[in-house]
Amino acid sequence: MDCCLSMQKAAEYNLKMHPMWQGPLAVPGGDRQSPIDIVVRKSVFDSQLKHLIADYDPTTCQQIWNNGYSFLVEYDDTTDKSTLKGGPLQDKFRLCQFHFHWGESNAWGSEHTVDRRLFPAELHLVHWNSDKYSLFEEAVMEDNGLAVIGVFLKVGKRHDGLQKLVDALPAIRHKGSVVEFTKFDAGCLLPNNTEDYWTYHGSLTTPPLTESVTWIVMKQAIEVSHDQLAVFRSLLFTSAEEEVQKSMVNNFRVQQPLRGRTVRSSFSPFLKESPSDQDDQHTH
Ligand SMILES: [Zn+2]
Repeated sequence: MDCCLSMQKAAEYNLKMHPMWQGPLAVPGGDRQSPIDIVVRKSVFDSQLKHLIADYDPTTCQQIWNNGYSFLVEYDDTTDKSTLKGGPLQDKFRLCQFHFHWGESNAWGSEHTVDRRLFPAELHLVHWNSDKYSLFEEAVMEDNGLAVIGVFLKVGKRHDGLQKLVDALPAIRHKGSVVEFTKFDAGCLLPNNTEDYWTYHGSLTTPPLTESVTWIVMKQAIEVSHDQLAVFRSLLFTSAEEEVQKSMVNNFRVQQPLRGRTVRSSFSPFLKESPSDQDDQHTH
């Protein structure tokens, strides 16, 4: 079975079936939609792209909830205690939440792809511009309002940092459930190498799909175990009251056209890759 085709079918099925995609906000409007396929050799090396500075304070972590489409780990964003600066960003951005997208199998699940390569899951760390705006709700509607870091997950050894999160998931199995979740350092989910990334202007991949996002997609994936991903898949799209329970899988959006946008890279794609990077390319 062709992997990309079955993934596309799974996503389209989800778009039709999942209530989140049935409202007017789910209709994409513009020319800067996400996610996209990153074509490595078409990305443009930009030597001006700086190092990212993710300065996260674990004490701002508050709770984890199943919103019926993914699970969100939410941070107190009333102060500048957990911020992202540098990279392609001119301003300071506050961490407000992170979440994942994943597939029903390890063959697909990520929203972005790299040269059409699919990953089993993708982490999104969502930040809003606290230099220009005073609330997430304000920033989400504006150009340069949001910065989202995307990190690919690949199957390998167990991720110790992620395990604390995985252990909390059975408590939020059903849609709408929330539990306290504190002192989690979101920085532990970043890859070792945060210097190499792609960046482009895009949108949220869930309604309202606003084109307010500076995407920063990490080149290096993080490794998690199959068992850890299996716990993601044990979550439910449905609330406890619903008669037919539905597994939370394939919660990713179909890919969107690039429409003339440029994807910039912080590294030169034409330099020979290190052996460890080579290894990253063959685990799918
Ligand atoms: Zn997302």
